[in-house]
Amino acid sequence: MKITSFNLPYMSARSIFPKLCVAALIGTIGWSLAAAEIVAPAIVPLPMKMEVAEGTFTLTSATRVVFDEASAETARQLVDSLKPAMGIAMERVPGLPNDAKATIRLTQDEGLKRLGKEGYQLSVTPDGIRIVGAAQAGVFYGVQTLRQLLPPRIFATEPVKDVAWSVPCVTIEDMPRFAWRGLMLDSGHDFQQKAFVERFIDLMALHKFNIFHWHLTDLGTWSIEIKGRPKLLDAATRGPGVKPGHYTQEEVREVLRYAAARHITVVPEIDMPGHEPPALLAYPELDCPLPRADKDGKVERPWEFCLGNEKTYEFLEEVLGQVSEVFPGPYIHIGGDECPKGRWLRCPLCQARMTEQHLKNGEELQSYFIRRIEKYLQSKGRRLIGWDEILEGGLAPNATVMSWRGMGGGIAAAKAGHDVVMAPTEWTYFDYPNTPVEKVYSFEPVPNELSAGQGMHVLGAQAQMWTDTHPTEDQIDALVYPRAVALAEVVWSSPVNRNYHEFEDRLRAHLPRLAALGVHYKPLVGAGRVIGHWSPAETSDTPKVVDWKLDTGIKGAGRYAITFQYEHGKSRYQIHAVEIIQEGKVLASDKHFGWSGASNQNHVYQLELAQHSNAPLTLRATVSTDWGPDSHGRIMIEKLAALP
Ligand SMILES: [Zn+2]
Repeated sequence: MKITSFNLPYMSARSIFPKLCVAALIGTIGWSLAAAEIVAPAIVPLPMKMEVAEGTFTLTSATRVVFDEASAETARQLVDSLKPAMGIAMERVPGLPNDAKATIRLTQDEGLKRLGKEGYQLSVTPDGIRIVGAAQAGVFYGVQTLRQLLPPRIFATEPVKDVAWSVPCVTIEDMPRFAWRGLMLDSGHDFQQKAFVERFIDLMALHKFNIFHWHLTDLGTWSIEIKGRPKLLDAATRGPGVKPGHYTQEEVREVLRYAAARHITVVPEIDMPGHEPPALLAYPELDCPLPRADKDGKVERPWEFCLGNEKTYEFLEEVLGQVSEVFPGPYIHIGGDECPKGRWLRCPLCQARMTEQHLKNGEELQSYFIRRIEKYLQSKGRRLIGWDEILEGGLAPNATVMSWRGMGGGIAAAKAGHDVVMAPTEWTYFDYPNTPVEKVYSFEPVPNELSAGQGMHVLGAQAQMWTDTHPTEDQIDALVYPRAVALAEVVWSSPVNRNYHEFEDRLRAHLPRLAALGVHYKPLVGAGRVIGHWSPAETSDTPKVVDWKLDTGIKGAGRYAITFQYEHGKSRYQIHAVEIIQEGKVLASDKHFGWSGASNQNHVYQLELAQHSNAPLTLRATVSTDWGPDSHGRIMIEKLAALP
């Protein structure tokens, strides 16, 4: 029951790009070539193949959208998405008239099956635009790419005047690397309004994510209505600081329709056997019959179900029965994470169950529980997915594992022949505020430890937006964006072409789109692009000369800012002089003293670079550390606006 095929054979876009296009795509090189005047569109995630040609097609009130029967809904979505900024709704014409000039043409064609259900071809010529996919998901993704080919203000929510809605002539062929491209939103630690959830889904679709993992219950709140169990929604079961609210089943169905229209599958999570204070406060009989610790007059909030009590299974089957009626997707996530086993070992009911089932320890009791739940879900035609703790005590036979405590759980499960989704904290926990965009971008979901065959079990990856700290909606925006853009490229684009500097250029061009949409994204940290790093190996207390290759970031003559930014270590980094060197000659210099450490002092150097040849450039700095060599940091370059 895999949702589609995985790890599709991947072409290296670099090897099939004509030279002209590489020059156009990678803006930092080849500007002396004839292609320099062709500005490559900044598409995220990067398509598999893109060729840019001269010329444009301009959308006007006379442009018609023509479509075949299968593409009617996607055509409507295209027109609706462009209408606010254009201030007009382009005319939609069903069928494919022959006089199809000045048109955008959407069609579904089985002949494109080699690109999978999500792949598409998009071509723009001065006469019109064509988007073709083997299925509507592909046509829809072609439309998302088309939106990014337009000027960024096309994303504005109000009519924009004096903009020519021009699209550069391109030929794009595209398909995703992974079938599981996910984001998780936690509505169990804190509650978000339905409108926010739908906007979250909308932004996912723009970045070609296709799995919305909706964490619906946790220690903060039980946020989904279960018919016949109204106590789950009692305010008294909510944790402190949790925003009030819940989703009725009808509201959930509306969200599901909203997601389905955007080719996004929703995976609901009901966390068990731990993380369940609201359910146990509502139904205390599902807790082990043992007293809860009393600390300073406050009774400890319950956490885990009693696994020896049949009522627990009845309750969860009632819940999961309704959940599988509401959610049509193939997967149901049952959590399984962070459950202490101590109480089960003291509980007479749990002990009796362990004796009866010949279970040696708490891990095996949990495994027994997960297997029973899996059997129940299978009876409803669903697949069980859980966090990597479900490996403890033996994995349920058909379970899919979501690896969050590093990659180890995912590796073990894939080696045992189970499907896995990579979601490790180090790269993909977006509630961690300090994980840089570049770090997210460096994530590789298929670890080297896996053989090619085992690697096929990696369905993909996803990022987690936990809400333990009760972030506002604006704060969620800033935690998710722009890091989700980096992850979108990790799960969609070929790893062969992954280059952070080149991505950052496109990301900078993409941020105005997010701004037009009203996304409160976090601005990129540090000015300019990273050209090098320092570490203890190249530093000392006495000043010495260090060179870095300046093979990126220089775009012709002009004024450049070079920033030394300390990252960690005991010592600050001191800069005595900075020069740009070419073939042994100093082209530009700034010889002031500065440092970067816990605080910064004059750590930005400005150099005026005159016209120069294409020979390699070197950044040369005289540097020292102030107290031992323990200093780590990065060096960034940015071209400054010309002086008036
Ligand atoms: Zn018990």
